[in-house]
Amino acid sequence: MNAEHILTWIDGRWHRGNVPILGAADHATWLGSLVFDGARAFEGVTPDLDLHCARTNRSARRMGLEPHLTDGELTEVALEGVAAFPAGSELYIRPMIWARGGCQMMIVPDAETTAVAVCIEEKPMPPGPVGLSLTRTRFRRPTIECMPTDVKAGCLYPNNARMLREARSRGFDNAVVLDALGNVAETATSNIFLVRDGEVFTPIPTGCFLNGITRQRVIGLLRDDGVAVHEASLTPADLDAAEEIFTTGNATKVMPITRFEDRNLPFGPIARRARELYWDFAHSRLKVPA
Ligand code: PMP
Repeated sequence: MNAEHILTWIDGRWHRGNVPILGAADHATWLGSLVFDGARAFEGVTPDLDLHCARTNRSARRMGLEPHLTDGELTEVALEGVAAFPAGSELYIRPMIWARGGCQMMIVPDAETTAVAVCIEEKPMPPGPVGLSLTRTRFRRPTIECMPTDVKAGCLYPNNARMLREARSRGFDNAVVLDALGNVAETATSNIFLVRDGEVFTPIPTGCFLNGITRQRVIGLLRDDGVAVHEASLTPADLDAAEEIFTTGNATKVMPITRFEDRNLPFGPIARRARELYWDFAHSRLKVPA
């Protein structure tokens, strides 16, 4: 990561580079209270940036934090940062909220000490719909009784890291994650869709995985385009029988899966359509101010 290509907003000011934002004794440093979200700027657009900023504030409240900026103010800050990069830059926009202090034996984040930052870094989009490979992982999504699965929080990601490590060690790009009951939940980094008989199926949100903003957007776009999309309980056998598999997420948008375990899959017509619809949607929205 080149710190020249990072802008960070904290305490009302922009700083160039990967500036320190946590202190050694801060709650988030050692007790994991940081929530974040990820949005993208590319080709002069920032699709659903407002929804990603709203989700950051929602995650913060669910973690017992007290965000100081409204959803709209957080979006304005992010847009101001994006406008400081050259036009058309491919950026990862990361609002973050955390507690500096703790209360109740230091463990509970102290809402009075809530801090907010927005970090924007250059991160190229994949060069196109590069096909990815998926394998199963022995690690599972926790239930909401075990972890705060209703927030997008850094504390959830070490589990995803071990899924990715396991998948990569077997020569795959990503992992299909099951929930505690053995139903398909998502991948380690994105939501998952499959196609059967020309209809689309995706795991029904159960609260244990992120009901992604890109997922919801793509479901709406496909339905408006006349494609049947079912939110259902799915098992790995459904993936074995799928004609197409694709993923959605803010980082790479709609991506085809071209291998599941030892089976090759095409970048098929529905994944192509979903990708086209997403790009049309992104370009129909407000452009980044020059
Ligand atoms: N699941 C996980 C584990 C993720 O990290 C992401 C990326 N934020 C998603 C799903 C997709 O969510 P979204 O479309 O809101 O980015």
